[in-house]
Amino acid sequence: MTTTHPKREREAPELQAAITRLTRALVARAADGDTEALSCLAACDEIVAQAKSEAAAALHQPPWSYSWYMIGSELGITRQGAQQLAHRNHHDTGRRCEAQTRKGLCNDRLDGYGNCPSAAKHI
Ligand SMILES: [Zn+2]
Repeated sequence: MTTTHPKREREAPELQAAITRLTRALVARAADGDTEALSCLAACDEIVAQAKSEAAAALHQPPWSYSWYMIGSELGITRQGAQQLAHRNHHDTGRRCEAQTRKGLCNDRLDGYGNCPSAAKHI
């Protein structure tokens, strides 16, 4: 895939290598008997799942506007799979907004990014 993104301080493969090193460090800690390392690895699953969803959604939006087919190809999944993955962000996370409005606590459901759909009413 030809990329036209601006030059970054670090390229994605370098960041992936750093994440791999950090993940291996958690495995080494678990091997040393650190049980917290295991729960940290489990939390990483959700972080990566959410990150893939957000990244797929961002690449589909302007100015990139990549097709779901192209995004799916990068993820090694189908076009439909990519679309479903990106829409994960819009699913109910069960979290509620705690901002204040003129009528009291907002309490609206937050999206996967932690954004409130009623943010305009916040004071
Ligand atoms: Zn709100």
